[in-house]
Amino acid sequence: MKVDTRSLRQALIIEGINVSKCFLNGCKKQDNIEIHHIVPQKAKQLVRFNINDTNNLIPLCKNSSQYCREN
Ligand SMILES: [Zn+2]
Repeated sequence: MKVDTRSLRQALIIEGINVSKCFLNGCKKQDNIEIHHIVPQKAKQLVRFNINDTNNLIPLCKNSSQYCREN
């Protein structure tokens, strides 16, 4: 299931999280920011919490989210 990124972004904004900059330590990129799931969506069935909860979401730039996916 494809989640609407805009609503995830909106949820983070409501929590007071700045979604216009990358949250990875030392990364100062402010463009191509995507909302990244800390526990990946494919693990949805394995966890007891809502995968789209703001606690499981983090704004990351394209490079950083690629890095998180590969490691
Ligand atoms: Zn980054």
